[in-house]
Amino acid sequence: MARWECAIEGDDAAFDRVEDLMVHQAAEHDRIECKVCGAVVPDGYFAIRHAFDEHSRAEYVRAYDATAAEVRRREKVKEVVEDVADIREVVDRLDE
Ligand SMILES: [Zn+2]
Ligand SMILES: [Zn+2]
Repeated sequence: MARWECAIEGDDAAFDRVEDLMVHQAAEHDRIECKVCGAVVPDGYFAIRHAFDEHSRAEYVRAYDATAAEVRRREKVKEVVEDVADIREVVDRLDE
């Protein structure tokens, strides 16, 4: 079974369920400030979702000095996570 690795700042914590990973990233790691608009968002998936839902790729590339490959890698992560994760469950668990 695929294991999901945190990877935030080299954290090697791994989880069997992606939902557990997302809760871990949002609850255990410091929130980060979006470099485009200054919003404070949980690191990991939620930061990626914020960046690509709220901002254009061009804004993201400018603010983060990102390459096209980095943008594609993050878009891929978002796609894979949204494919398999029960986002609703994660949001509910974080609300508790
Ligand atoms: Zn972690
Ligand atoms: Zn933003």
